[in-house]
Amino acid sequence: MKIVTDIQELRDQLRGQNRASFVPTMGNLHEGHLSLMRIARQHGDPVIASIFVNRLQFGPNEDFDKYPRTLEADAEKLEKEGVYVLFAPTESVLYPEPQEYRVDPPKQLGDILEGEFRPGFFKGVCTVVLKLFSCVQPKVAVFGKKDYQQLMIIRQMAQQFALPVDIVAGETIRAEDGLALSSRNGYLTKEERTEAPQLQIALQNLRQEIQGLLGKAESSSITAHQLLALEQKASEALKNRGWVPDYIAIRKRSNLLAPNTEDLLTKKELVILTAAKLGKTRLIDNLEV
Ligand code: AMP
Repeated sequence: MKIVTDIQELRDQLRGQNRASFVPTMGNLHEGHLSLMRIARQHGDPVIASIFVNRLQFGPNEDFDKYPRTLEADAEKLEKEGVYVLFAPTESVLYPEPQEYRVDPPKQLGDILEGEFRPGFFKGVCTVVLKLFSCVQPKVAVFGKKDYQQLMIIRQMAQQFALPVDIVAGETIRAEDGLALSSRNGYLTKEERTEAPQLQIALQNLRQEIQGLLGKAESSSITAHQLLALEQKASEALKNRGWVPDYIAIRKRSNLLAPNTEDLLTKKELVILTAAKLGKTRLIDNLEV
């Protein structure tokens, strides 16, 4: 595996490749990331990975400085996965001058849920992903469903800019106790790590309640209000266990807006998304209904 830090060197290395499959990451790789490398291999050749902790997507009080950087161990894992090139640019390579041109996703998708609690986050994500696409020029790029809203926003960006890249989704890989793997899990204390799977359990309980409601004979009369009450109950349950939830929201998979009675009647596909703090660590997860 070649580790490349420079854009020109990357282009030289990839010249003539028109089926490359790309997995962008921020490093500190775990099985979730590696599962995406395997998916990438099924969709193209060679597989290119990138590691770049993107300052643009971190808020001023977020964890940019303490985000785990473990390049050497990451490179070993990628090598084992048969990755052809690891693109690991420094900030001065990717942002040699202030990145003034940015991609601003539409408010109705970019400013809700994660975007509401992390202003500017998706602008930073879209900008770096577009730039990485421009560097790597992949045929396929793989993103995890763990970051459900991000996946959706990038799909729409690729569509609206007619980018010649297929966006492929990877399922969320979890620890045995159900906790979604995340680089941020490393911030958890031992006690918090024991509690952390409760986030997914809260989603599963909520899903059961939704299915119970939808299964009832008079499901034609289910209101948005009832769903809100279920969201609130789930949120309260987490609070009682010491979590500080940012949101726990039942949404339509198609556009991440709240479903109305008509949507429920026509059995629109739903997803529950959540973000919550446990101590100092903010975790996100989701569950399709
Ligand atoms: P990150 O390094 O956190 O920016 O993540 C890089 C890619 O890995 C993104 O597409 C994430 O959605 C994906 N990812 C992160 N955690 C997981 C997981 N547990 N399972 C599958 N994909 C994941």
